[in-house]
Amino acid sequence: MTHSHPGTALITGASSGIGAVYADRLARRGYNLILVARNRARLNALAERITTQTRQAVEVLEADLGAAASLARVEAKLREDASITLLVNNAGVGTHTPLLESDIGSMTAMIDLNVTAPTRLTYAVAPAFVARGRGAIINIASIVSIAPELLNGVYGGSKAYMHAFSQSLHHELGAKGVRVQAVLPGATATDFWATGGLPVEQLDQAIVMSAEQLVDAALVGFDRGELITIPSLHAGEDWEAYEAARQKMLPHLSSNTPAPRYLAAR
Ligand code: NAP
Repeated sequence: MTHSHPGTALITGASSGIGAVYADRLARRGYNLILVARNRARLNALAERITTQTRQAVEVLEADLGAAASLARVEAKLREDASITLLVNNAGVGTHTPLLESDIGSMTAMIDLNVTAPTRLTYAVAPAFVARGRGAIINIASIVSIAPELLNGVYGGSKAYMHAFSQSLHHELGAKGVRVQAVLPGATATDFWATGGLPVEQLDQAIVMSAEQLVDAALVGFDRGELITIPSLHAGEDWEAYEAARQKMLPHLSSNTPAPRYLAAR
């Protein structure tokens, strides 16, 4: 493989929605694909269409990323297949259900899929990317990573994890040739909403983007080398101000003295 070939992209949650659009767009950019999800029939249909349209090689890997054994198979693939140059951590579920109406079993299952799986997949591939001095990781977070009040709190927390993990990955691995991007979609018209119990048709359509627009915009951000991409935020300067405020605080967040406002009144 020469460096002009983009290599192979492994995309989780490729059987529908945002992941399926990434599959289409990355194949059109010349990537070969490894598509991961549970629904083999949908993965096969997508693989067939993409191969016919682009002539790229497409492999299907049926796996439940919430189950340790099948997650381990995907980890092994990432460790062993040296053609892989891009990991898209996209598979995820969410809900709008408040804490008092949520079942703890489904909350921890969401953490398994949204947090544990992308963490394990990243740990599987990162050493190989660093050894080759080349590779990229796209993490699909969400705007709820900075606005956890909007939906279920465990979902927001899982996406805040992806956001923070991406910042740290960039900090640790950016200089070692690993590109990292966290994408923060707003409401996007996919099965996500119906699966989570609130059909997307019930949302104000002024806040809902198509999955195609979302992925195309996110890839513009990727091409620009952005670490955080928020396709629906029109006022980009608001994000810059938010990030500048965070950077300004960083050197002052730890101190041997409590801030004066916390000194107990005598
Ligand atoms: P989607 O159409 O429901 O896609 C979810 C994908 O994840 C499917 O391919 C599904 O495939 C896969 N998946 C679910 N459980 C899985 C499991 N246990 N193991 C392996 N794969 C599994 O929804 P989407 O909107 O495209 O979601 C993609 C990502 O975008 C998620 O991380 C979501 O949190 C994020 N996001 C979505 C929105 C939105 O408004 N839609 C907004 C912000 C962020 P199978 O069912 O075949 O396994």
